[in-house]
Amino acid sequence: PVRVRFAPSPTGGLHIGGVRTALYNYLLARQHQGTMILRIEDTDQTRFVPGAEEYIIESLKWAGIKIDEGVGVGGPHAPYRQSERKPIYQKYAQQLIDEGNAYYAFDTPEELEAMRERLKAAGVDNYQYNSVTRMQMRNSLTLSEGEVKNLIASGTPYVIRLKVPKKEEIRLNDIIRGWVMVYSSQIDDKVLMKGDGMPTYHLANVVDDYLMKISHVIRGEEWLPSAPLHVLLYRFLGWEQDMPQFVHLPLILKPDGNGKLSKRDADKYGFPIFPRTWTDPVSGTVSVGYKDAGYLPEALVNFLALLGWNPGTTQEIFSMEQLIEAFSFDRVNKAGARFDIQKAQWFNQQYLRAKSDDELVVYLQESLKGENISCDEAKAKKIVTIMRDRVTFPGEFWSQGKFFFFAPTTFDEGVISKKWNDEAVKVLSAFKDEIAKAATLDAATAKAALEQVTATLGIGSGKIMQALRVSLTGAGGGPDLMMIMEIIGAQEVVKRIQYALQ
Ligand code: GLU
Repeated sequence: PVRVRFAPSPTGGLHIGGVRTALYNYLLARQHQGTMILRIEDTDQTRFVPGAEEYIIESLKWAGIKIDEGVGVGGPHAPYRQSERKPIYQKYAQQLIDEGNAYYAFDTPEELEAMRERLKAAGVDNYQYNSVTRMQMRNSLTLSEGEVKNLIASGTPYVIRLKVPKKEEIRLNDIIRGWVMVYSSQIDDKVLMKGDGMPTYHLANVVDDYLMKISHVIRGEEWLPSAPLHVLLYRFLGWEQDMPQFVHLPLILKPDGNGKLSKRDADKYGFPIFPRTWTDPVSGTVSVGYKDAGYLPEALVNFLALLGWNPGTTQEIFSMEQLIEAFSFDRVNKAGARFDIQKAQWFNQQYLRAKSDDELVVYLQESLKGENISCDEAKAKKIVTIMRDRVTFPGEFWSQGKFFFFAPTTFDEGVISKKWNDEAVKVLSAFKDEIAKAATLDAATAKAALEQVTATLGIGSGKIMQALRVSLTGAGGGPDLMMIMEIIGAQEVVKRIQYALQ
């Protein structure tokens, strides 16, 4: 059976790449009637951020990624929080030691630093604790059994390191990248258990993937270099037959395609990563988040699905159900995927446009409520009807439609300088007088009045349209002007033109 896990570390907000990883896991699970597991990898206590776990759970829920088993849900392999599984890792670390595949190391930070210096002096830049250097250090391979016992008994801090074999080819078959081969001499004797009795990511990850019967390890490409080490661990623990399939997803690149997208970049590009307000503990920046920025979960999911995957057709709009059906790793690229802000916005626009007027009215009313403005349904409906093809985010019904509620106080300078002339003034004042006579104003009446006035004065309406628009809305562009007049009403039209003419 397909059993996949999303295994974030609660070190802050969820990076957009993390959401994509979760999504791809979820799509595979659903496609195969499998199980989606949420495991919290919180063994690095120094990077723990309170609230991050809740935040992750909430983000996934918002995106429509459902968890079948794990933190917040429970399941047959509980607990799913690694900090609550310490004895399990200790047991396997002990097994590795007993079988000669791991060892105790007592080196102090100073001793490790001294080794680094020695290596550097010898011209070796990449410091490694490996089959060569470990023989010069203080560990259970160089000390006598008695010494090791004494050191442990006296409470000397130690770590447990993996004993990486000397010269060996380690291979793994990644579903996306194919065969990956690494020489063991390139892997150092990674720490498996830390001084505080907590496992490192590597040990905990492998042990849990095995115990939780994970079938596919789907994660970001940044973990590919760790995979050979994990293969070694599976072998040493006697689990090679049950090793999961590896799937390393392509990197997400900066919008310009130059390098990896970082949290900081996303802030810089005005495109926050986090789905709600979150102060990033590293950069200290507050991100508004996708959710608050007005992204619809369906749009974001659709955008993320296509960030590295393509359906092989020209279809772009996919519901979650359609994604579950169409998704496959055969069509995930090896190359990094450029994070295209415009594309994300385009998706949002598409999903917004697919909504009914009544649904859009709800968005507008929400914004208005926040501003303490009341608006009757008929007016709200007219507003969304003429605005619906112009907005990218739900909040724009209000932010771009303030003129429906308030007379403009500033006027587009560019329009004024180009279009505000004697002819415009003549037409506008005649038009205003005409409208003042109208009992009620609808778009057709407004249009007829304007036509009549321009015909009488012999001035083409095209010449004065922008001046009229700017006096009513403050801006040079916007939705249908006749409808705007119908919505704001005759009195308001007269008032605004009068003000503009002063
Ligand atoms: N805890 C790791 C992370 O935060 C999980 C990597 C993996 O899926 O193996 O990305």
